[in-house]
Amino acid sequence: MTRIFCIANQKGGVGKTTTTVNLAAGLAKVGQRVLMVDLDPQGNATMGSGIDKRSLSLSVYDVLLESASVAEARVKSEKCGFDVLGANRELAGAEVELVDVERRDQRLKTALAAVAADYDFVLIDCPPSLSMLTLNGLCSAHGVIVPMQCEYFALEGLTDLVNTIKQVHANLNKDLQIIGLLRVMFDPRITLQQQVSEQLKAHFGEKVFDTVIPRNVRLAEAPSYGLPGVVFDAGARGSQAYVDFAREMVARIGHG
Ligand code: ADP
Ligand code: MG
Repeated sequence: MTRIFCIANQKGGVGKTTTTVNLAAGLAKVGQRVLMVDLDPQGNATMGSGIDKRSLSLSVYDVLLESASVAEARVKSEKCGFDVLGANRELAGAEVELVDVERRDQRLKTALAAVAADYDFVLIDCPPSLSMLTLNGLCSAHGVIVPMQCEYFALEGLTDLVNTIKQVHANLNKDLQIIGLLRVMFDPRITLQQQVSEQLKAHFGEKVFDTVIPRNVRLAEAPSYGLPGVVFDAGARGSQAYVDFAREMVARIGHG
């Protein structure tokens, strides 16, 4: 059965896109069939998966407006080993164009159902907002993966997201749950990060993933080569951590 996960956090720059593309590549590496859906008009996850967003003839925008199916709009990333439903600037208009349509928050869910048999995992990279685009992601998903940095305001920032997830769970998608919190860009030499990490575990218990993603420059360099770190430099510490995370996901979800 396909499992669909949103990578979400309403803050920007917290590692959503890095997590999405590297988890996708990590899952592909351990033999899972993966579709990566880019729901951010910036198209960073598309570019970071080796797909030129400017070359897309169809994208997730066409899927949301029901002028194309996922099967028509997806492209295969040969280098990365997973499929991509890409995004580009056009997607910024979808927010407004969806205002007046029926089932506007269910568009992605309906579209993904048609390709469910093709994938073990669908990963959705959400934009840094709680917009209609993010809502389409949350309505499609079985769970949310929340990447976060262990900084002073980290817990506070989670409240809005947790409340949104609760509301979506109660009103729109009873499958939705937080799968886990992923500590990213972690630097164990910084005492504050260790303290916040301990607080997270005390507060969220098993919802905190065992895997910790270190701060690693190779992960940051990889997008400029149009690749996830896991593909760009498999030996880098950050890349190995994302492959470990893929294994942890497979174990938690019970695939493979
Ligand atoms: P978001 O999608 O939440 O806006 P990104 O994944 O784009 O965040 O990450 C923000 C910036 O941090 C990017 O420049 C990215 O390359 C960098 N980055 C993300 N994770 C790491 C990491 N583990 N180590 C070093 N740099 C990272
Ligand atoms: Mg992003």
